[in-house]
Amino acid sequence: MKLKFYLAISILSFYSCKVSKTTTNVDFNKKAQELAHKFILTDGHVDLPYRLKIKNFQMQKDYLGIPIKSESGDFDFERSKKGGLDAPFMSIYIPSIYETPQAQLLADSLITMVKYIAKEKSDYFEMAYSPNDVQQTFKKGKIALPMGMENGSPIGKLADVKKYKEKGISYITLTHAKDNKICDSSYDTTRTWKGLSPYGREVVLEMAKVGIMIDISHVSDSTFYQVARISPVPVIASHSSARFFTPGFERNMSDDMIKVLGKNNGVIMINFGSTFLDGEVAKIRNSSQKELRALIAAKGLKPSDHEAEVLADNYFKSNPKAYSDTQKVADHVDRVVKLAGINHVGIGSDFDGVGDSLPTGLKDVADYPNLIAELLKRGYSDTDIEKICSGNLFRVWNSVIKYAAK
Ligand SMILES: [Zn+2]
Repeated sequence: MKLKFYLAISILSFYSCKVSKTTTNVDFNKKAQELAHKFILTDGHVDLPYRLKIKNFQMQKDYLGIPIKSESGDFDFERSKKGGLDAPFMSIYIPSIYETPQAQLLADSLITMVKYIAKEKSDYFEMAYSPNDVQQTFKKGKIALPMGMENGSPIGKLADVKKYKEKGISYITLTHAKDNKICDSSYDTTRTWKGLSPYGREVVLEMAKVGIMIDISHVSDSTFYQVARISPVPVIASHSSARFFTPGFERNMSDDMIKVLGKNNGVIMINFGSTFLDGEVAKIRNSSQKELRALIAAKGLKPSDHEAEVLADNYFKSNPKAYSDTQKVADHVDRVVKLAGINHVGIGSDFDGVGDSLPTGLKDVADYPNLIAELLKRGYSDTDIEKICSGNLFRVWNSVIKYAAK
C-alpha cells in the first residue's frame, strides 16, 4: 500500500511538474500581456522632455520630435501601447549646474513642451494632474502625461512651490547630482546641510500643503531620514532601486531606508538602469568606461562626436556582461516586498535617462510585459501586479492630494 501510494504521488507530482513546465512560459507571457493592458501602468520617471530638448525639439506642428512613432529613444506612443504603458511621468529635469533663475527658465520650457505635445497630439496624449485624470485618459485609450520636476532648484522662494503646482507639477525630486538650497545629494560629497537645510524643511512642508508629492530619489541618506521624519504625507522614490544589490551606491535605498519608507506608507519605484540593478555590472561598466575613453581618444575623437557614440554603442553591445536583466529587476521587487511589503513598490524605469544601460528584456517601453511575466512566474497575484503597476503610487498620490485639500 505504502509503495503504491508513493508511486501514485510520484506520478502525480511528475505529471503536474511536466504540465507546469510545458505550459507556464507561454501562459505567463500571454497573461503578462493581458495584465499590462488591463491594468493602468504608471512609470515614475521617463526622461523624454530632456531628450527632445537636447535634440533641438521645436514647437512646430507635426515636427518629428513628437513621439508617436520613432526609431530613437526608449519612449513613443506606439511602443507605449505595445507595452501597456499608460502614464509615464514626464521628467522636468534640471541639471545641477543651473542656479534658480536659469533653472526656472529651463523648467518652464520643458513644461511648455510637454503641454504642447499633449495639445498638438490630443488624439494620443493628455495631461494628467491626479490619479483620476490618469483613469479618465486610460478609458479613452490615450496616454496620460503627468509631470515630475527632477531637482528643486527652480524653487527660489517658498511661494514658488505653489506656482509649480499650478503649472501642473505632481512631484518634485528635492535635488539632483549636487547639494542645492534644499538638501544634500547622494552623488555629492560636500554634505552642505547634513541633510535638509532649514529652507528645505519649509519646502517639504509646503509641498505637502499644496499637494505636490515629495520625491526622495537622488537625496543623501540623512536627507531621506529627515524628510521621512517631518513629512506629514507618504513620500515616493520616483526612480531608485535597492542598495542591497549595489553595495555602497548611495543613490539606491538601503534596506533600513526601504523599511522606513514602508512605515511612512510611501512607495519606491524601481530604476531599470543596469548600474542601479547590479553592483558587479556597475564595476564592469566603470572599468569599461576608462578603456572606452582611451579608445575614443586614440582615434582622435571627442566623446560627443557621432563616430565616438557609435563606437561606444558597439563596445557595450559586444559585452553582454555590461547589462543586467529582467530577472534582476524582479529581484529588486522581491527585496522591497520582503522588507516593506507589496504595498510599497512600483516602476520608475528612468527610460530615456540611463542611455544604453538598460537590462536585457527591458530595453524600451514596449517591454514591461517581460517584467510582469517574470513576477507572475515568481507567484505574484493579479492584485499584486496591479499594485506594482499603479495601485501603490495612486494610493500615495491620492493621499497627498487629499491632505492638501484639508
Ligand atoms: Zn534621475
